[in-house]
Amino acid sequence: SSLNNNTQTKYKSTCSYCGVGCGVEITKIDNGKIYVEGDKDHPSSKGMLCSKGMNLHYTVNDKSDRLLYPEMRFNRNMPLQRVSWDTALDRTAAIFKAIIQKYGPDAVGFYVSGQCSTEEYYVINKLIKGFIGSNNIDTNSRLCMSSAVVGYKLTLGEDSVPVCYDDIELADCFFVTGANPAWCHPIIWRRVEAHKQANPDVKIIVIDPRKTQTAAQADLHLQLNPGTDIVLTNIIGRILIENNWIDQDFITNHTDGFEAYREQVFSRTLTEAANICGLAESDILLAAQYIHESKGFLSMWTMGLNQSVVGVNKNLSLIDLHLITGRIGKEGNGPFSLTGQPNAMGGREVGGLANMLPAHRDLLNPAHRDEVQAFWGGTKISDKPGFTATEMFQALADGRMKAIWIVTTNPMVSLPDLNMVEKGLQNAKFVVVQDISNRSDTVKYADVVLPAAAWAEKESVFTNSERRITFLPKVVDAPGEALDDTEIIKRFAQKMGFGESFNYQNNSEIYDEHCLSTKGTNIDITGLDYDILKEKRSVQWPYTDNQTSGFGTRRLFTDSKFYTLNSRAKIHAVPDENLSEKLSEDFPLILTTGRIRDQWHTMTKTGKVNKLNQHIAQPYVEIHPKDAQKRGIIEGQVIEIESIRGKNQVKVKITEDIKEGVCFMPMHFGKILGNAFGRTNSLTNTLVDARSKEPDFKFSAVQIRTYVKP
Ligand code: SF4
Repeated sequence: SSLNNNTQTKYKSTCSYCGVGCGVEITKIDNGKIYVEGDKDHPSSKGMLCSKGMNLHYTVNDKSDRLLYPEMRFNRNMPLQRVSWDTALDRTAAIFKAIIQKYGPDAVGFYVSGQCSTEEYYVINKLIKGFIGSNNIDTNSRLCMSSAVVGYKLTLGEDSVPVCYDDIELADCFFVTGANPAWCHPIIWRRVEAHKQANPDVKIIVIDPRKTQTAAQADLHLQLNPGTDIVLTNIIGRILIENNWIDQDFITNHTDGFEAYREQVFSRTLTEAANICGLAESDILLAAQYIHESKGFLSMWTMGLNQSVVGVNKNLSLIDLHLITGRIGKEGNGPFSLTGQPNAMGGREVGGLANMLPAHRDLLNPAHRDEVQAFWGGTKISDKPGFTATEMFQALADGRMKAIWIVTTNPMVSLPDLNMVEKGLQNAKFVVVQDISNRSDTVKYADVVLPAAAWAEKESVFTNSERRITFLPKVVDAPGEALDDTEIIKRFAQKMGFGESFNYQNNSEIYDEHCLSTKGTNIDITGLDYDILKEKRSVQWPYTDNQTSGFGTRRLFTDSKFYTLNSRAKIHAVPDENLSEKLSEDFPLILTTGRIRDQWHTMTKTGKVNKLNQHIAQPYVEIHPKDAQKRGIIEGQVIEIESIRGKNQVKVKITEDIKEGVCFMPMHFGKILGNAFGRTNSLTNTLVDARSKEPDFKFSAVQIRTYVKP
């Protein structure tokens, strides 16, 4: 939708950074440049934007880093050379065909991104699973939300965020755990802050080993030891039970599993739990009391729970608190996972992960596989789950996979154990990188580089953290020969011989097919298409074809009926041990990683905005004064930080905001941005949660010492 006047055209869209999904109004100026402001009419953000969103136009207007035409090299000793689209895609198709013929379809794979649109996810997923015949598609959302996905499925029967953002203003107890929304989901946090300001009785509990900006605003900051989250949530469960602060009717009528849960949480005393967590008993009691006294108990979490070798258990034990108190499906109550990326939710909708099928269908369910195969009209869908994010690069490193196609993500900065990732990329027979920017560290490992259209250069759809689906219009043309990502995949599919099934005239047709694929599922959006999205601006799923008069579904489970077979939610008895990497004499410190306020992911976009770099421009490590003193380290000094996988040198920030024995590094820095030594993820480990396969970025064993130049 656009409003014309003489010199400018306005478009409504959504921010392309985090999963808050703020509405933006884009003004296109006559000279082809754009300007971005908050969209006052967007229900998720009501006109607000954070520092990253406010500066979005710089990333589109500054094209200096853009990939402009396809490039290719015949061997790794040659530089990349400009070629035509046909040459690049002919060669890619020829090599994919040859590898598939020799080694089978599981020798190739796609590694995609929560920044891909729903349509892009949909066509890539369809191509690899339905036509190439492998389930080797995974996404950087694996690094982000996959523990929450499994947590929701095991408790509620479906990957379904039950709440909406309007629950913020209806809640009076916020349980923010393993998250720093003040920096990482700023507009959600601004809504919490405004609500607290207007209602001083609102309680904010923050659980984090670091005193973050979010923790600084808490009524109660539980600065627990890393890895002890389950001990804490379980003991809060025990306190709620002991004081009869639970909802027995809800437990009896709508849940299973309470007795085993009770036994589990009673296996520790409060004193024991407080000791393990490094917290005062009185503070834990107070947290339980705040929950009990509230009318609206909203828990918010992100990577502190998800990015863990026991990430699923952390999710289960948190959701348990909602189930034993019946605080779900009611205004202002519920578990609320905050999504990291703008369309990670859309990727989950289309099943763009190694173990999923469209519309949250299950790859391991033969009926679901048959249903999807019939719908796509392609080859038989393999019953073998594909490689997940870290597994893909391990498989490239040891030769089980031969070719990888990386779309809109920068694994050479973002994956754990970058030396392993590098080995994978170097060992791969063929690497395709489809992206917008030469600021990605991954591009230089490519045999073929495919330039793609960026945000605002193509029509697409994103779904945000509250299941809100928003249409993103095309505002400007992509530079050079860059193409819409769906067009790239369509052309490749044609060259592979699958053209008929990818013969879409536009992205609207792809979206229609996606909507149709959801028919009869819990995430049914058969009532949707581009026209409705353009007219209504945004709706929340489910949105069935009977729902065309409204804006979809704000809140799930209002009837206390869950998506499990017997409609009852499952309370889980969760063991509380942490299976993270063990500390040792050589590596006695815990390294945890996270985001900083004004950077996003691997900085390929935010890193080119001067205003954003002014906040923090260089990698650093935070350590506690006692740990610094023990090592004779002073503020601002360059230190060496080492894990068993690698080492690097960064400046030190000494602060009491972090627990003794713990250190923190921002995750954003790679070699291109930052410095040669600032690659945070050279240090992190590849341990993953057994069920979600999400890596344990929050707990790596490291040592820090003064650095002496060789
Ligand atoms: Fe964009 Fe997230 Fe900031 Fe909103 S909160 S403007 S979606 S980065």
